[in-house]
Amino acid sequence: MSETVERHEFGAEVGRLLDLVVHALYSDREIFLRELVANAADATDRRRFEALTNEALALPADAKVLIAPDKAARTLTISDAGIGMAKDDLAQNLGTIARSGTRAFSQALGEAKAGEEKATEGEDLRPSLIGQFGVGFYSAFMVADRVTVTSRRAGTEEAWTWASDGKGSYTLEPASREQAGTDIVLHLKDDADEYLESYRLDHVVRKWADNIAVPIAIRDEEG
Ligand code: ADP
Ligand code: MG
Repeated sequence: MSETVERHEFGAEVGRLLDLVVHALYSDREIFLRELVANAADATDRRRFEALTNEALALPADAKVLIAPDKAARTLTISDAGIGMAKDDLAQNLGTIARSGTRAFSQALGEAKAGEEKATEGEDLRPSLIGQFGVGFYSAFMVADRVTVTSRRAGTEEAWTWASDGKGSYTLEPASREQAGTDIVLHLKDDADEYLESYRLDHVVRKWADNIAVPIAIRDEEG
């Protein structure tokens, strides 16, 4: 590991949430794409909003959410031209559970799981929980065994890469990115090949992300 790479431990709550998301939501795992596309769209909206009072942050005319599978590398990348994250944002937003929604989800899922051991029909609680609370960024670890996030905050020159295998710690290191925005790179698990197929990605986006106002494009490797 080079000298510029910093390693940080996740908080205990993150570890617990990761465990719940990865093990309890297996059958609903396609919703990871909804979560990541929603985050990319939120970041795009936020940049549009900040640009109202700061012209320098104006969105590129072709701003969109790009979903790009790479079969050779076995990666799926979700990119946006949104507000981006500075180094501290990466540590804060992706390294802790800052949001009450995620904490509530984690709690509810924990309770549902405990209930399942007693009640046999408890299993059906999961889809309603997923609908009720956003599962959030960590759902990426349902399909990926390693996630890297390279981001450049709009209005700044620096970029940083956050990387984790979802097992207790993450790293931060300097990176470069031509323009402001974020790339989320999912190194897909062996059993998550289906998310390299553009027809499958298209299906999930139509099902879950139909109401998102920012344009979404799926790169077709063959085409
Ligand atoms: P939520 O979207 O409910 O806040 P998430 O777990 O989905 O929770 O994401 C956590 C936080 O990480 C977001 O609130 C946001 O600050 C940051 N984030 C995630 N993805 C992006 C992105 N593509 N661009 C900028 N910030 C992001
Ligand atoms: Mg989110």
